[in-house]
This record gives sequence, structure tokens and C-alpha cells, in this order.
Amino acid sequence: MRTQVVIIGGGPSGLLLGQLLLRQGIDAVVLERRTRDYVLGRIRAGVLEVGFVNLMQEAQVGARMLSEGIPHDGIRISYDDELFRIDFARLTGTPVVVYGQTEVTRDLYDARDAAGGKTVFRAENVQIHGANTDAPHVTYSEDGQIRRLDCDYVIGCDGFHGVSRRTIPQNIRRDHEKAYPFGWLGVLSQTPPVSEELIYANSERGFALCSMRNPNLSRYYVQCPLSDQPGDWSDDRFWDELRRRIPPAAAETLITGPSIEKSIAPLRSFVSEPMRWGRLFLCGDAGHIVPPTGAKGLNTAASDVHYLYQGLLSHYLDGDSAGLDNYSADALLRIWKVERFSWCMTNLLHRFPEQSGFDLRIQRAELEFLHENEAAQMVLAQNYVGLPY
Ligand SMILES: Cc1cc2nc3c(=O)[nH]c(=O)nc-3n(C[C@H](O)[C@H](O)[C@H](O)COP(=O)(O)OP(=O)(O)OC[C@H]3O[C@@H](n4cnc5c(N)ncnc54)[C@H](O)[C@@H]3O)c2cc1C
Repeated sequence: MRTQVVIIGGGPSGLLLGQLLLRQGIDAVVLERRTRDYVLGRIRAGVLEVGFVNLMQEAQVGARMLSEGIPHDGIRISYDDELFRIDFARLTGTPVVVYGQTEVTRDLYDARDAAGGKTVFRAENVQIHGANTDAPHVTYSEDGQIRRLDCDYVIGCDGFHGVSRRTIPQNIRRDHEKAYPFGWLGVLSQTPPVSEELIYANSERGFALCSMRNPNLSRYYVQCPLSDQPGDWSDDRFWDELRRRIPPAAAETLITGPSIEKSIAPLRSFVSEPMRWGRLFLCGDAGHIVPPTGAKGLNTAASDVHYLYQGLLSHYLDGDSAGLDNYSADALLRIWKVERFSWCMTNLLHRFPEQSGFDLRIQRAELEFLHENEAAQMVLAQNYVGLPY
């Protein structure tokens, strides 16, 4: 079989790019290792930048997101007995939108079905051949049969553990990594959120985040040791710990309920350069990871999609390959700024095992400065609502 573009990975970046291309008449087959239900069951990101929202609309899949997503004009930050607000509306004029990654993915799959896009689920043993030639192809197994797809370009949207990045030879790739000495224990519960806006809490017991997906679905996190397992945390233990880390007024009004999902995610910063090798392009988590503190993982996947979509569009519609040639450099320019922001937010809000008394006072001074200083708040707000692309 032949197609113009093979997209490996049916997560949000692969589906969004596929939908944008399909609408322009550019043929793209999506190969996904898992089942659709498995992909839709993964509870992950929930805060969308305006750039993401715009791309969804451009792909004509934004209707449900616009009616059910909740615009947020700010976030709250607490430390010790202090609580303050970063006012996005006043500082940037731009909100973020709370709408879960599961819903984004569902909308994209529905739109792909409606447009007749080809998606292969349970595609096993995907391998990329001839990526640095003019005639690449991809092989995979489907129901025990080996299949071959010839194409112009291969797009690796297969996440951090996928095959695409590993296809780029080690002598060409430069991987930059920072692992943090803690994880986030996340709980999803069918309860009203404790606050209308997200609360980021730096407490002496560790970080906590009060987040939400909709008016009756809350997502809460506490920083935990990497050695912990979700089974170590009963629901009662989780709620007690959360109450001790968030502002007292929020702790008093917190409505708890049974967890409907509980998981631990390690925190990591990672960038692989370059994001192109011949006719293979990396996009989203396949090329980079951020700790979730700045809500940037999904949003940065979307900025890659933007650069790649524009490059493919110019190539196919105008015969101009400059966008594809510049893809890696353009995408990385923004990615490193997002890595910086996510790293700053993680350092500002967490307790690190090796932190000295001096480190703690510096962290507190940073929080106090942010609390008092509008210019510092502006910098945070600009990064949180999303850098332009
Ligand atoms: C536990 C967790 C919590 C997160 N929370 C947040 C958050 O709160 N905020 C935030 O902004 N971001 C968060 N993120 C990050 C965000 O979810 C990701 O940045 C986003 O999913 C990236 O989308 P993607 O499509 O690039 O990759 P993915 O969503 O990882 O999709 C990759 C797809 O490729 C498929 N695949 C993998 N290997 C192969 C293969 N060999 N062949 C075929 N298919 C393959 C996978 O099954 C998957 O469907 C979180 C991530 C995790 C893991």
C-alpha cells in the first residue's frame, strides 16, 4: 500500500496532525499499537493553551471543546500561609481552557471516522525503513500478517517509548535528560472541584495541585517518593495528605469521594535533537518530555504539529520545502523555552530531598517576589497561557 504520510502513534499529536492533513486532501495513515479504548482510557493532561484551541478549530474538531471546555482566567499559588492569584486576563488578555486530553482524543477519533481517515489499531512491531533515503517505507504486523506502507514522509508521534526516536542513529541524536527525585500521585474523582481555578501549593510536606476536568470531575495530585506505588495510597490517606498541603480554607471545603483512577507519574525533562532525520520527523512526546508542573506536555505536542503541518502543507501545495527543512530548528526554539518554564515551575513548587536551608530560603524568596511583583507575574502568565507560534 502507498500513502503520502505515515503517522506512527494515534495519541493527540498523531490524530491532530492527521486531521489537519486530511482536511487539505493530504493522505495520512495512522498506525497505533494499542486499541482505541486503551488510548481513550489514559487520563493525562487537561489544560489547553489558546494555540491548541486554535489548531483544533482549524482541524474543524473544536465544537465540543468550545461548548464544554471551561476558560480559566488565572491560577492560584499557595505557600506557607500565603495565597495569591496570577491573573491571566489582566496580564495577558488570554485565558487557558480546561478540557481533558481524553475528550480531545475522543473528538479527534470521531472526526477521523467521519472523514474516512485510515487508522490501524493493534499495529505491532512497527519498523521504519530507509528514513534517510528518498523512498522510505514502514512495516508492521496486523492480525499476524506483515504489511508494508510506502510513503513520502514518516512522522513519529509515538510518544516517549515509541520506535521513531530510536530509529535515528545514536551518532546523530543528542539526548538531554533530567530526572526529578519524586513523582506525582494523581487521583481522579467524581466530585466538584475545590476551587474554580487551579491551586498550585508549595507546602513543607511537598507539592500539591488541585485541578479539574469539568464541574463534577476533579483531578488532584500530591508529590510523592518515586518508590511509592498507587496501592500504598488508600483514598483516605490521599485525601488526608492533600488537605495538609493546600490552603486551610480549601481543605475545609474539599469534597472527597472514591477515586476512579489513581496513578503515579515520574517527573522528567527530556529533549532529543535534531527532530528530523531524512524523511523521518519526531513530533510531541516522541521528541521531548516536560514535568507536568507547567501544563505544557500536550500543548508543546500541539506546537510541533503546527510547524510540521505548515511545512507539509507548503511542500504539497506549493512545492516549497523550506518549512520542512526548518522544522527541527523552529520547533526546538520553542521547546527549549517551554522546557525552561516547566523546569522553573518544578523547582519553585516542589520540595527536593537534598534541599539545604539556604535552598529553601531562596525558594521562599522567589515565591515572595512572584507574589509581590507584577513583572514576575507577567512572565509566568505569558509562559502559562502559551508562547506564540
Ligand atoms: C501519566 C501522565 C500524565 C500527564 N499529565 C499531563 C498534564 O497534566 N498536563 C500536560 O500538559 N501533559 C501531561 N502529560 C503529557 C501529555 O499527556 C503528553 O505530552 C501528550 O500525551 C503527548 O501526546 P503525543 O501524541 O505526542 O504522545 P502520546 O499521548 O504518548 O501518544 C503516543 C501514541 O503512540 C502509540 N505508540 C507508542 N509506540 C508505538 C509504536 N511502536 N507503534 C505504534 N504506536 C505506538 C501509543 O500507544 C500512543 O497512543 C502527561 C503524561 C503522562 C504519561
